[in-house]
Amino acid sequence: MAVVSTSLAGAVTSQLNQFSGLRKSFLKLDASSANSNQSFFLNVDSHIRLASSGKACRSVVAMAGSGKFFVGGNWKCHLVSCFLISPCILKQYTQNGTKESISKLVSDLNIATLESDVDVVVSPPFVYIDQVKNSLTDRIDVAAQNCWIGKGGAFTGEISVEQLKDIGCKWVVLGHSERRHVIGEDDQFIGKKAAYALSQGVGVIACIGELLEEREAGKTFDVCFQQLKAYAGNDYQLSILWCADAVSSWDNIVIAYEPVWAIGTGKVASPEQAQEVHAAVRDWLSKNVSADVASKTRIIYGGSVNGANSAELAKKEDIDGFLVGGASLKGPEFATIINSVTAKKVAA
Ligand code: PEP
Repeated sequence: MAVVSTSLAGAVTSQLNQFSGLRKSFLKLDASSANSNQSFFLNVDSHIRLASSGKACRSVVAMAGSGKFFVGGNWKCHLVSCFLISPCILKQYTQNGTKESISKLVSDLNIATLESDVDVVVSPPFVYIDQVKNSLTDRIDVAAQNCWIGKGGAFTGEISVEQLKDIGCKWVVLGHSERRHVIGEDDQFIGKKAAYALSQGVGVIACIGELLEEREAGKTFDVCFQQLKAYAGNDYQLSILWCADAVSSWDNIVIAYEPVWAIGTGKVASPEQAQEVHAAVRDWLSKNVSADVASKTRIIYGGSVNGANSAELAKKEDIDGFLVGGASLKGPEFATIINSVTAKKVAA
Protein backbone atom coordinates (compact mmCIF):
# COMPACT_ATOMS: atom_id res chain seq x y z
CA MET A 1 0.00 0.00 0.00
CA ALA A 2 1.31 3.44 -0.85
CA VAL A 3 0.94 5.61 2.18
CA VAL A 4 1.39 9.35 2.17
CA SER A 5 3.06 10.06 5.46
CA THR A 6 1.85 12.83 7.73
CA SER A 7 5.07 14.72 6.99
CA LEU A 8 3.72 15.22 3.48
CA ALA A 9 0.33 16.09 4.76
CA GLY A 10 0.78 19.83 4.65
CA ALA A 11 1.38 19.68 0.93
CA VAL A 12 -1.96 18.05 0.31
CA THR A 13 -4.10 19.78 2.90
CA SER A 14 -5.42 22.45 0.57
CA GLN A 15 -6.22 19.82 -1.99
CA LEU A 16 -8.25 17.92 0.56
CA ASN A 17 -10.06 21.00 1.74
CA GLN A 18 -11.37 21.45 -1.79
CA PHE A 19 -11.86 17.78 -2.42
CA SER A 20 -12.21 17.43 -6.14
CA GLY A 21 -11.99 13.72 -6.42
CA LEU A 22 -8.51 13.96 -7.86
CA ARG A 23 -6.17 11.32 -6.68
CA LYS A 24 -2.97 9.78 -7.93
CA SER A 25 -2.86 6.20 -9.09
CA PHE A 26 -0.46 3.59 -7.84
CA LEU A 27 -1.28 0.65 -10.03
CA LYS A 28 0.95 -2.32 -9.50
CA LEU A 29 -0.69 -5.52 -10.57
CA ASP A 30 1.02 -8.79 -11.02
CA ALA A 31 1.06 -9.33 -14.79
CA SER A 32 0.04 -12.94 -14.44
CA SER A 33 -3.11 -12.04 -12.59
CA ALA A 34 -4.67 -10.27 -15.57
CA ASN A 35 -5.59 -13.54 -17.17
CA SER A 36 -6.75 -15.41 -14.13
CA ASN A 37 -9.85 -15.29 -12.04
CA GLN A 38 -7.98 -15.11 -8.79
CA SER A 39 -8.70 -12.17 -6.59
CA PHE A 40 -7.29 -8.97 -8.01
CA PHE A 41 -8.03 -7.41 -4.71
CA LEU A 42 -4.99 -9.12 -3.24
CA ASN A 43 -2.77 -7.88 -6.05
CA VAL A 44 -3.74 -4.28 -6.09
CA ASP A 45 -1.44 -1.77 -4.52
CA SER A 46 -3.40 1.27 -5.47
CA HIS A 47 -4.31 2.74 -2.12
CA ILE A 48 -3.41 6.27 -1.34
CA ARG A 49 -4.25 7.64 2.02
CA LEU A 50 -3.88 11.31 2.68
CA ALA A 51 -3.94 12.76 6.14
CA SER A 52 -4.49 16.46 6.74
CA SER A 53 -2.15 18.21 9.10
CA GLY A 54 -4.46 20.19 11.39
CA LYS A 55 -6.01 17.12 12.93
CA ALA A 56 -4.34 13.78 12.54
CA CYS A 57 -6.24 11.72 9.98
CA ARG A 58 -9.02 14.27 9.79
CA SER A 59 -9.62 13.31 6.20
CA VAL A 60 -8.72 10.02 4.64
CA VAL A 61 -9.13 9.56 0.95
CA ALA A 62 -8.93 6.18 -0.66
CA MET A 63 -9.33 6.30 -4.40
CA ALA A 64 -7.19 4.59 -6.97
CA GLY A 65 -8.30 6.58 -9.98
CA SER A 66 -7.70 10.26 -10.50
CA GLY A 67 -11.10 11.10 -11.95
CA LYS A 68 -13.90 13.00 -10.27
CA PHE A 69 -16.72 11.00 -8.65
CA PHE A 70 -19.51 10.39 -11.17
CA VAL A 71 -23.13 9.42 -10.56
CA GLY A 72 -25.63 8.69 -13.31
CA GLY A 73 -29.36 8.10 -13.04
CA ASN A 74 -30.87 5.76 -15.61
CA TRP A 75 -34.57 6.50 -15.77
CA LYS A 76 -35.15 3.75 -18.33
CA CYS A 77 -38.59 3.34 -19.88
CA HIS A 78 -40.99 2.71 -17.07
CA LEU A 79 -44.42 1.96 -18.41
CA VAL A 80 -47.92 2.30 -17.11
CA SER A 81 -49.09 -1.08 -15.93
CA CYS A 82 -52.72 -1.38 -16.94
CA PHE A 83 -53.31 -4.89 -15.76
CA LEU A 84 -52.62 -4.09 -12.13
CA ILE A 85 -56.00 -3.06 -10.92
CA SER A 86 -55.31 -2.15 -7.32
CA PRO A 87 -55.67 1.63 -7.39
CA CYS A 88 -52.68 2.20 -5.21
CA ILE A 89 -50.39 -0.09 -7.22
CA LEU A 90 -51.55 1.46 -10.46
CA LYS A 91 -50.78 4.89 -9.07
CA GLN A 92 -47.33 3.77 -8.07
CA TYR A 93 -46.57 2.56 -11.57
CA THR A 94 -47.96 5.59 -13.30
CA GLN A 95 -45.70 7.76 -11.21
CA ASN A 96 -42.68 6.63 -13.22
CA GLY A 97 -42.04 7.92 -16.70
CA THR A 98 -44.83 10.40 -17.29
CA LYS A 99 -44.57 14.15 -17.87
CA GLU A 100 -46.02 14.71 -14.44
CA SER A 101 -43.73 12.30 -12.59
CA ILE A 102 -40.71 13.70 -14.42
CA SER A 103 -41.65 17.25 -13.41
CA LYS A 104 -41.75 16.12 -9.79
CA LEU A 105 -38.43 14.31 -10.05
CA VAL A 106 -36.79 17.32 -11.69
CA SER A 107 -38.07 19.70 -9.03
CA ASP A 108 -36.83 17.35 -6.29
CA LEU A 109 -33.40 17.31 -7.93
CA ASN A 110 -33.41 21.08 -8.39
CA ILE A 111 -33.81 21.66 -4.66
CA ALA A 112 -31.51 18.86 -3.50
CA THR A 113 -28.23 19.78 -1.84
CA LEU A 114 -25.52 18.02 -3.81
CA GLU A 115 -21.84 17.75 -3.00
CA SER A 116 -19.93 19.90 -5.46
CA ASP A 117 -17.21 17.38 -6.22
CA VAL A 118 -19.42 14.97 -8.17
CA ASP A 119 -20.35 14.89 -11.86
CA VAL A 120 -24.07 14.12 -12.01
CA VAL A 121 -25.97 12.95 -15.08
CA VAL A 122 -29.54 11.74 -15.59
CA SER A 123 -30.89 9.86 -18.59
CA PRO A 124 -34.59 10.33 -19.23
CA PRO A 125 -36.42 8.51 -22.03
CA PHE A 126 -35.83 10.28 -25.35
CA VAL A 127 -39.29 11.84 -25.46
CA TYR A 128 -38.72 13.67 -22.18
CA ILE A 129 -35.16 14.86 -22.74
CA ASP A 130 -36.26 18.27 -23.95
CA GLN A 131 -38.61 18.71 -21.00
CA VAL A 132 -35.82 17.77 -18.60
CA LYS A 133 -33.24 19.96 -20.32
CA ASN A 134 -35.59 22.92 -20.09
CA SER A 135 -36.39 22.50 -16.42
CA LEU A 136 -33.42 20.82 -14.73
CA THR A 137 -30.66 22.75 -13.00
CA ASP A 138 -27.45 23.15 -15.04
CA ARG A 139 -25.70 21.41 -12.18
CA ILE A 140 -26.90 18.12 -13.65
CA ASP A 141 -26.12 16.98 -17.18
CA VAL A 142 -28.42 14.97 -19.38
CA ALA A 143 -27.63 11.69 -21.10
CA ALA A 144 -29.54 9.71 -23.70
CA GLN A 145 -30.18 6.01 -23.18
CA ASN A 146 -29.08 5.06 -26.69
CA CYS A 147 -28.01 6.46 -30.06
CA TRP A 148 -27.58 5.43 -33.67
CA ILE A 149 -24.22 4.00 -34.77
CA GLY A 150 -23.30 6.77 -37.16
CA LYS A 151 -24.40 9.95 -38.83
CA GLY A 152 -28.17 10.42 -38.96
CA GLY A 153 -30.09 9.61 -42.13
CA ALA A 154 -32.77 7.23 -43.36
CA PHE A 155 -32.92 5.11 -40.19
CA THR A 156 -36.55 5.08 -39.12
CA GLY A 157 -37.02 5.09 -35.40
CA GLU A 158 -33.42 5.89 -34.56
CA ILE A 159 -32.00 8.97 -32.85
CA SER A 160 -28.68 10.32 -34.07
CA VAL A 161 -25.83 11.68 -32.02
CA GLU A 162 -26.20 14.97 -33.91
CA GLN A 163 -29.79 15.22 -32.69
CA LEU A 164 -28.76 14.44 -29.14
CA LYS A 165 -26.21 17.23 -29.28
CA ASP A 166 -28.81 19.56 -30.74
CA ILE A 167 -31.05 19.15 -27.68
CA GLY A 168 -28.17 19.49 -25.26
CA CYS A 169 -27.25 15.91 -24.36
CA LYS A 170 -23.66 15.64 -23.28
CA TRP A 171 -23.67 11.90 -22.62
CA VAL A 172 -25.10 8.66 -23.91
CA VAL A 173 -25.46 5.34 -22.07
CA LEU A 174 -24.27 2.48 -24.29
CA GLY A 175 -23.95 -1.27 -23.85
CA HIS A 176 -26.51 -1.46 -21.07
CA SER A 177 -27.39 -5.07 -20.30
CA GLU A 178 -30.99 -4.49 -21.29
CA ARG A 179 -29.84 -3.46 -24.74
CA ARG A 180 -27.43 -6.38 -24.95
CA HIS A 181 -29.66 -9.10 -23.58
CA VAL A 182 -33.19 -7.90 -24.30
CA ILE A 183 -32.72 -5.99 -27.56
CA GLY A 184 -29.81 -8.14 -28.79
CA GLU A 185 -27.06 -5.59 -29.40
CA ASP A 186 -23.62 -7.16 -29.69
CA ASP A 187 -20.14 -5.95 -28.83
CA GLN A 188 -19.32 -4.75 -32.33
CA PHE A 189 -22.50 -2.75 -32.69
CA ILE A 190 -22.02 -1.17 -29.27
CA GLY A 191 -18.35 -0.42 -29.93
CA LYS A 192 -19.24 1.31 -33.18
CA LYS A 193 -21.87 3.44 -31.47
CA ALA A 194 -19.40 4.42 -28.77
CA ALA A 195 -16.72 5.37 -31.25
CA TYR A 196 -19.13 7.51 -33.24
CA ALA A 197 -20.58 9.29 -30.22
CA LEU A 198 -17.09 10.08 -28.95
CA SER A 199 -16.01 11.31 -32.36
CA GLN A 200 -18.86 13.83 -32.16
CA GLY A 201 -17.92 15.00 -28.67
CA VAL A 202 -20.65 13.17 -26.78
CA GLY A 203 -19.44 11.35 -23.67
CA VAL A 204 -20.11 7.63 -23.34
CA ILE A 205 -21.19 5.78 -20.23
CA ALA A 206 -19.91 2.43 -21.43
CA CYS A 207 -21.63 -0.43 -19.65
CA ILE A 208 -20.11 -3.86 -19.17
CA GLY A 209 -21.04 -6.77 -16.95
CA GLU A 210 -21.53 -10.49 -16.69
CA LEU A 211 -24.62 -12.66 -16.44
CA LEU A 212 -25.09 -14.76 -13.32
CA GLU A 213 -24.18 -17.97 -15.15
CA GLU A 214 -21.02 -16.34 -16.46
CA ARG A 215 -20.03 -15.34 -12.93
CA GLU A 216 -20.78 -18.82 -11.67
CA ALA A 217 -18.66 -20.30 -14.45
CA GLY A 218 -15.72 -18.10 -13.39
CA LYS A 219 -15.92 -16.01 -16.56
CA THR A 220 -16.54 -12.58 -15.06
CA PHE A 221 -13.21 -11.07 -16.09
CA ASP A 222 -13.26 -12.71 -19.53
CA VAL A 223 -16.69 -11.29 -20.28
CA CYS A 224 -15.84 -7.81 -19.02
CA PHE A 225 -12.53 -7.70 -20.87
CA GLN A 226 -14.18 -8.82 -24.11
CA GLN A 227 -16.75 -6.06 -23.78
CA LEU A 228 -14.02 -3.54 -23.02
CA LYS A 229 -12.12 -4.60 -26.13
CA ALA A 230 -15.10 -3.68 -28.26
CA TYR A 231 -15.06 -0.16 -26.84
CA ALA A 232 -11.32 0.08 -27.24
CA GLY A 233 -11.51 -1.23 -30.79
CA ASN A 234 -8.40 -3.31 -30.24
CA ASP A 235 -9.92 -6.71 -30.73
CA TYR A 236 -8.22 -8.35 -33.74
CA GLN A 237 -11.45 -9.19 -35.56
CA LEU A 238 -13.04 -5.95 -34.60
CA SER A 239 -10.06 -3.97 -35.69
CA ILE A 240 -10.51 -5.18 -39.26
CA LEU A 241 -14.12 -4.11 -39.24
CA TRP A 242 -14.04 -1.11 -37.04
CA CYS A 243 -10.46 0.05 -36.84
CA ALA A 244 -11.37 3.45 -38.19
CA ASP A 245 -13.91 3.77 -35.43
CA ALA A 246 -11.66 2.75 -32.58
CA VAL A 247 -11.78 5.03 -29.60
CA SER A 248 -9.12 7.64 -30.13
CA SER A 249 -9.42 9.29 -26.74
CA TRP A 250 -10.66 7.95 -23.42
CA ASP A 251 -11.17 11.41 -21.96
CA ASN A 252 -14.91 11.26 -22.41
CA ILE A 253 -15.64 7.67 -21.37
CA VAL A 254 -16.95 6.48 -18.03
CA ILE A 255 -17.02 2.71 -17.63
CA ALA A 256 -20.03 1.34 -15.78
CA TYR A 257 -19.52 -2.13 -14.34
CA GLU A 258 -23.01 -3.53 -13.97
CA PRO A 259 -23.28 -7.22 -13.17
CA VAL A 260 -26.48 -8.27 -14.89
CA TRP A 261 -27.60 -10.32 -11.89
CA ALA A 262 -27.59 -7.16 -9.79
CA ILE A 263 -29.58 -4.89 -12.10
CA GLY A 264 -33.08 -4.29 -10.89
CA THR A 265 -32.99 -7.36 -8.66
CA GLY A 266 -32.26 -5.83 -5.27
CA LYS A 267 -29.17 -8.10 -5.12
CA VAL A 268 -26.38 -5.57 -4.97
CA ALA A 269 -22.80 -6.79 -5.45
CA SER A 270 -20.85 -6.68 -2.22
CA PRO A 271 -18.31 -3.85 -2.04
CA GLU A 272 -15.58 -6.50 -2.30
CA GLN A 273 -17.11 -8.13 -5.38
CA ALA A 274 -17.45 -4.76 -7.10
CA GLN A 275 -13.98 -3.60 -6.07
CA GLU A 276 -12.42 -6.79 -7.39
CA VAL A 277 -13.85 -6.28 -10.88
CA HIS A 278 -13.17 -2.54 -10.87
CA ALA A 279 -9.52 -3.17 -10.02
CA ALA A 280 -9.35 -5.74 -12.81
CA VAL A 281 -10.87 -3.27 -15.27
CA ARG A 282 -8.37 -0.59 -14.24
CA ASP A 283 -5.59 -3.09 -14.67
CA TRP A 284 -6.91 -4.03 -18.11
CA LEU A 285 -6.90 -0.37 -19.11
CA SER A 286 -3.38 0.01 -17.84
CA LYS A 287 -2.12 -2.95 -19.83
CA ASN A 288 -4.16 -2.44 -22.98
CA VAL A 289 -4.48 1.32 -23.25
CA SER A 290 -2.15 3.20 -20.90
CA ALA A 291 -1.43 3.79 -17.24
CA ASP A 292 -2.61 7.36 -17.65
CA VAL A 293 -5.99 6.29 -19.04
CA ALA A 294 -6.28 3.66 -16.30
CA SER A 295 -5.81 6.33 -13.69
CA LYS A 296 -8.09 8.94 -15.22
CA THR A 297 -11.01 6.80 -16.35
CA ARG A 298 -13.93 6.68 -13.96
CA ILE A 299 -15.14 3.15 -13.26
CA ILE A 300 -18.59 3.31 -11.74
CA TYR A 301 -20.71 0.53 -10.31
CA GLY A 302 -24.35 -0.20 -11.15
CA GLY A 303 -26.77 -2.80 -9.89
CA SER A 304 -29.32 -2.21 -7.11
CA VAL A 305 -27.46 0.74 -5.65
CA ASN A 306 -29.61 2.65 -3.18
CA GLY A 307 -29.35 5.22 -0.43
CA ALA A 308 -28.58 2.56 2.14
CA ASN A 309 -25.74 0.73 0.39
CA SER A 310 -24.01 3.46 -1.62
CA ALA A 311 -21.69 4.72 1.13
CA GLU A 312 -20.12 1.31 1.75
CA LEU A 313 -19.59 0.81 -1.97
CA ALA A 314 -18.20 4.32 -2.40
CA LYS A 315 -15.49 3.64 0.16
CA LYS A 316 -13.86 1.14 -2.15
CA GLU A 317 -10.91 2.69 -3.84
CA ASP A 318 -11.66 1.69 -7.43
CA ILE A 319 -15.34 2.61 -7.24
CA ASP A 320 -15.52 6.08 -8.75
CA GLY A 321 -19.27 6.50 -8.63
CA PHE A 322 -22.51 4.80 -9.62
CA LEU A 323 -25.01 4.17 -12.37
CA VAL A 324 -28.37 3.97 -10.68
CA GLY A 325 -31.68 2.71 -12.03
CA GLY A 326 -34.63 2.36 -9.67
CA ALA A 327 -33.27 4.53 -6.88
CA SER A 328 -32.59 7.41 -9.29
CA LEU A 329 -36.35 7.86 -9.70
CA LYS A 330 -36.59 9.17 -6.16
CA GLY A 331 -34.95 12.59 -5.95
CA PRO A 332 -33.96 12.57 -2.26
CA GLU A 333 -32.58 9.04 -2.44
CA PHE A 334 -30.63 9.83 -5.61
CA ALA A 335 -29.18 12.85 -3.80
CA THR A 336 -28.07 10.58 -0.94
CA ILE A 337 -26.29 8.35 -3.46
CA ILE A 338 -24.61 11.34 -5.09
CA ASN A 339 -23.49 12.58 -1.69
CA SER A 340 -21.97 9.21 -0.80
CA VAL A 341 -18.81 10.76 -2.24
CA THR A 342 -18.28 11.92 1.33
CA ALA A 343 -17.69 8.31 2.32
CA LYS A 344 -14.38 8.69 0.52
CA LYS A 345 -13.49 11.40 2.99
CA VAL A 346 -13.53 9.59 6.27
CA ALA A 347 -13.60 11.83 9.32
CA ALA A 348 -11.57 10.52 12.21
C1 PEP B 1 -29.37 0.22 -14.35
O1 PEP B 1 -30.41 0.17 -14.97
O2 PEP B 1 -28.35 0.61 -14.91
C2 PEP B 1 -29.37 -0.15 -12.94
C3 PEP B 1 -28.24 -0.21 -12.33
O3 PEP B 1 -30.59 -0.42 -12.38
P1 PEP B 1 -30.88 -0.65 -10.81
O4 PEP B 1 -30.14 0.41 -10.03
O5 PEP B 1 -32.36 -0.53 -10.68
O6 PEP B 1 -30.37 -2.02 -10.46
